[in-house]
Parts: sequence; structure tokens; C-alpha cells
Amino acid sequence: MNKLHYYLLSQEEISKIKTLPNKPKLLLHACCAPCSCFPLSFLHDHFQITIYYNNSNIYPQAEYQTRLEELKKYLSEYYPDIEIIIPTYDHDGYMESLRPYKDMREGQQRCFICYAKRMDEAYAFAQDHGFDYFTTVMTVSRQKNSLKINEIGHALSQKYPKVKYFYSDFKKKDGFLIGNNMAKALNMYRQKYCGCEYSMPKEENINER
Ligand code: SF4
Repeated sequence: MNKLHYYLLSQEEISKIKTLPNKPKLLLHACCAPCSCFPLSFLHDHFQITIYYNNSNIYPQAEYQTRLEELKKYLSEYYPDIEIIIPTYDHDGYMESLRPYKDMREGQQRCFICYAKRMDEAYAFAQDHGFDYFTTVMTVSRQKNSLKINEIGHALSQKYPKVKYFYSDFKKKDGFLIGNNMAKALNMYRQKYCGCEYSMPKEENINER
């Protein structure tokens, strides 16, 4: 499937959901407030959303906490109906399976393992807690591979068959741009690197993402 296909699948699924008598329950993996802006505007009218902030990839812990606080602030102001679930932060444990790939550039095998790990943790929670759907905001990011994320989501939907995977490519149709402008307008904290220590920029290359 190509990337546009995933965007079209998200539209088709929304059309089906609109015919339901009640909004289905969606567990949404979110990594930070800026990446959540556009996906929340896209999904909020159609789902009862709960956010799952399982991001033990983020280093150091102070950075993890800063991103979490920004997300909580955004939700309390704009989406007070959305609950956020925060599992235990365990960076050392999380990185064990990623360390063999430490020298790879961002966007390669290490990152695919990282997407899958966080999505799997969240999907398991969704299945254990009676959610109808699961998805992640990560497809909004220009640095993340939407094809890979959706392939992982598809595989997890076989592993956790009670929960439907919501295919997405939130960056399409200016989703990235719109979300980025929202984050800028709200003067949100915008991180300068993806999350793990291997993605931290050298001093001379520091830019907001
Ligand atoms: S660069 Fe980002 S996606 Fe890749 S392994 Fe590090 S935290 Fe995970």
C-alpha cells in the first residue's frame, strides 16, 4: 500500500464511524503535544479518546517530563474530556533491544523497533481495557516512516484482535503543516530531537522539529 492509501483508509473509516450510534473508544499513543495537535483535531469529533503516553525512549528523564507536562497543559486547555494514562518510565529497560543499533541513522532499523515497541505496549493496554480502536500520532511526523508505522499497526491488529487499528497518515493534506502552525501559534515547547540519546543533535545542528 502507498502512503496516500493510508490517508484514504482513515477517511473511509471515519465515514463508517459517523454512521454509528455512539462514538467508539480510541486509545491514542501520543509522544508529545506538537505531534498531537493535528491528529486530535482530526479524531476528536469521532472518537472517545484516551491518550497513552508510553515514551520510555525519551532521554533524559527531564526531557520526557517536559514533553509530558506540555501535553498535559494542552489537553487541560483544549481537550479537558481526554484522560491521559502514563505508564512507568523505564529508559534503561526500554533501550536494551535498541542498543545494538545505536550507530544507525534516525529512520532506520532502530527506529522501526522503537515504533513497534511503543505501539505494542499501547495496543496491549487497549486490548486489556476494552478499547474499540488503537492508533498513534506518529504518522504526523515528517521524520517518521508512515508505511512502517501502518505495517506495524496492521501486524498488531492480528496480535490483539479485539481492537481495530486505525490506519492513518496524518501528515498528508497539509496535516504536518497545520499541526506545526498550531504548535507555533500556541508557543508550545517543541523538541529539538526525536527522543533517545542516539538522536540528540550536535551543538551546531540544533533546530526545532
Ligand atoms: S531516533 Fe526516535 S524513533 Fe529512533 S530509536 Fe531514537 S527515539 Fe526511537
